[in-house]
Amino acid sequence: NKEDNQRFTDDDISMLRTLASQAAVAIENARLFQQSDFIAELVHELRNPLVALKASTTLLLRPDLPEEKHDDIVETMRFETDRLIGLTDDFLNVARLESGRVQLEIAAFPLYKLLTESVQIIHQHAADKQIDVVIEPNDYVVEADRGKIKQVLINLLSNAAKYNRPGGQIIVAAHAIHDLDSEEDFAQIDVTDTGYGIPREHQKHMFQKFFRVPNTEKLERGTGLGLTICKGIVEAHSGRIWLKSEEGQGSTFSFTLPLII
Ligand code: ADP
Repeated sequence: NKEDNQRFTDDDISMLRTLASQAAVAIENARLFQQSDFIAELVHELRNPLVALKASTTLLLRPDLPEEKHDDIVETMRFETDRLIGLTDDFLNVARLESGRVQLEIAAFPLYKLLTESVQIIHQHAADKQIDVVIEPNDYVVEADRGKIKQVLINLLSNAAKYNRPGGQIIVAAHAIHDLDSEEDFAQIDVTDTGYGIPREHQKHMFQKFFRVPNTEKLERGTGLGLTICKGIVEAHSGRIWLKSEEGQGSTFSFTLPLII
């Protein structure tokens, strides 16, 4: 009857308890599995520059090494050390974002100035490949953690330069959008390049940890963590990040930020 239906028996309760503890074990296993996957990748990625550094030091210590080879070897060591620093910074950033330990320092600031500062940082890289960078002017004021959004922009811009063809273009533009669900205004920032583009079948994996489009490794060095970091930062601001790309034509990476004016 009705009353019995509303009451749990001791057996029901003990069954629920068992189910709940089984679910807790399954979640913990999934979490540990993901973590150990991350650690395995991390160790693998760190090993390559370390092996290169060890080989360089062994060479440098050889008594029969001709003097004129020294500079080249030291240059390789500098390059590999930079790579190690870049890798450890990326890993730390991903780990912090994943654990939810990122503290945002939110303030209002003019977007255009941040766009020009970020472009300045990748300017030399773009110039080396004769890539033209255009920033469309705007007067928006956004509310965000300026330093972290700068990191997002630098990641997107350096990808737009890295995966562009020589003599290509990068266009940075912003416009206001109104989100009907939340009734809030956002600035949408688009970073467009005229590079290799991303094959359709890989597009949905772009923001996953360590994902790199196959064969990219042969063209450019990287960790496959930059876009994961971008997504973590943008989502911590309640924004969205996505891409549109046409293989052989180029890509546009877009993200949103809360807009004030
Ligand atoms: P990384 O550049 O260190 O490999 P990212 O997470 O920034 O890591 O990018 C992941 C992969 O996505 C890159 O390896 C590259 O294959 C692809 N990618 C990123 N940005 C672009 C772009 N603008 N055009 C083409 N491919 C891109």
